[in-house]
Amino acid sequence: MKNIRNFCIIAHIDHGKSTLADRLLEVTKTVSERELQAQVLDDMDLEKEKGITIKSHAIQMEYVLDGEKYVLNLIDTPGHVDFSYEVSRAIASCEGALLVVDATQGIQAQTISNLYLALGNDLEIIPVLNKIDMAAAMVEEVKDQIVDMLGCKREEILAASGKTGQGVEEILRAIVERVPAPKGDDTAPLQALIFDSVFNPFRGIIAYFRVMNGVIRKGERVKFFNAGSEYDADEIGVLKLKMSPREEIRAGDVGYIISGIKNSVDVKVGDTITSVATPCREAIAGFEDVKPMVFAGIYPVETDQYEDLRASLEKLQLNDASLTYEPESSLALGFGFRCGFLGLLHMEIIQERLFREFNMDVITTVPNVSYKVFTTKGDELMVHNPSGLPEPNLIDHIEEPYILAQVITKTEYLGAIMKLCIDKRGVLLNQNFITTDRVEVNFDMPLAEIVFDFYDKLKSVSRGYASFDYHMTDYKPSKLSKLDILLNGEPVDALSSLIYVDHAYDFGRKMCEKLKELIPRQQFDIAIQAAIGAKIIARETVKAVRKDVTAKCYGGDISRKRKLLEKQKAGKKRMRQVGRVEVPQEAFLAVLKMD
Ligand code: GDP
Ligand code: MG
Repeated sequence: MKNIRNFCIIAHIDHGKSTLADRLLEVTKTVSERELQAQVLDDMDLEKEKGITIKSHAIQMEYVLDGEKYVLNLIDTPGHVDFSYEVSRAIASCEGALLVVDATQGIQAQTISNLYLALGNDLEIIPVLNKIDMAAAMVEEVKDQIVDMLGCKREEILAASGKTGQGVEEILRAIVERVPAPKGDDTAPLQALIFDSVFNPFRGIIAYFRVMNGVIRKGERVKFFNAGSEYDADEIGVLKLKMSPREEIRAGDVGYIISGIKNSVDVKVGDTITSVATPCREAIAGFEDVKPMVFAGIYPVETDQYEDLRASLEKLQLNDASLTYEPESSLALGFGFRCGFLGLLHMEIIQERLFREFNMDVITTVPNVSYKVFTTKGDELMVHNPSGLPEPNLIDHIEEPYILAQVITKTEYLGAIMKLCIDKRGVLLNQNFITTDRVEVNFDMPLAEIVFDFYDKLKSVSRGYASFDYHMTDYKPSKLSKLDILLNGEPVDALSSLIYVDHAYDFGRKMCEKLKELIPRQQFDIAIQAAIGAKIIARETVKAVRKDVTAKCYGGDISRKRKLLEKQKAGKKRMRQVGRVEVPQEAFLAVLKMD
């Protein structure tokens, strides 16, 4: 145990975590140069494209320092707020963390929130100033920021470049010298913390764990403490570039287990693995059942693909227990599913995976948060869909989820950011100056306000110099009303939303304006109305036109004409008939496109 080091890398997105991890693997010869295609740790295509690490993984390296051999377990953490629970479990599996800060960017929101998590778990922090090869590197300034933030000595900060490899040997030495060896009792009953899991179509679920106490042995019967399920440890091993089977894994070390588990709900991140023969008395602290926070309807573009969509969602859920889905139907969209996601990025990822991995073309409705509805009869309901709201006279009050929002920016943008957050119903909690020109502000804010366009607005008012992070706090009572959209007098259920009362008029008006742009002219006038209950609060009209897309081809060019007709046909597929009105798919996401 004394020669094991468990560490993670915490960094704001794009600060160079994956690149640096690759260099560590290269220098320790864990992978050969040939094997090292760009960014080994991000092995999903989608991750490579989005440039983010979606699922955390672990990898074991061997490193010899002054003639002594060490095992270094690098536990990779996802870099996005949607996955902050997974980050917290990865951090709980380590004794140390490399805190990577981009020398051209300085400290950003995720640097700080992950740092708080690491400090909360008593991790030894090794500050690394990265990208020092770049001309724009502000080495001294960012070192000042790090010293201010950590209260560390200037000399403790390592300077490196994941690109050129400069400073990487020093990082490895610091990991051995500064990160404490794991503690733990290998004679105690088994307690292993699951920090991640992946689904493999041939082998079932592979769970990654850190053994806190005891020993896990191949073939023994194990129990997942919180899930309550039992399995045989068919294969255990350590994670090199490939899985490398072992007979046992002892306290302090990191490994994987394969036990023919087919369902992701049995293997929850944060759960404890123990032995059935000599079980531990209690689970490792900190287990949480993560609940989806953002919900949206997902409908097949082709209505006859409903069953295929169900099968695809079922498969996705096997490897992603945080995705939920239940059947729902909409007058406008037919049969589909109401899906629950951890956040907006998670929702985008699922939509993308449905398309890429399952060839499913879907219509997604406007996302909303989940509401707690208290009825006049004293019942409490969770409502995931505005159209599922009880009749107004049966509602006593509604609560919505709130977050602690944390923004870090330059002082010059503070005013604009304050205004934005206050417009979004934020209440300023505190502000701290990290350095003279860099400030952290915290707001208490409804989650619903960041579900739509918050990120984009934040980016634009701060010219990109703001970073954002948030954590769920609690449900609080709120003045909300249901806003309906009517097309030629017929309510379109998929366009209903729950809106903060004081924002409802403005929202309704903008929604009608946007829909007017998105709904094509048809052979009759289309009235677009926004209503709260029976009261119409906004109206627009799409004027009738005889739609002849080939008219502008002045008869001549046949092939051009055919192309246009084909395009129109393809466009039709993504249209939905609402009464007599044809509504294009984009219209169902109109809210996301409003200014
Ligand atoms: P992550 O999001 O923290 O994993 O960041 P990545 O490792 O994906 O790096 C983000 C971008 O910065 C990529 O385009 C990298 O090529 C680039 N990058 C990473 N480290 C360095 C470095 O030390 N120097 C330079 N010049 N670029 C780097
Ligand atoms: Mg990365």
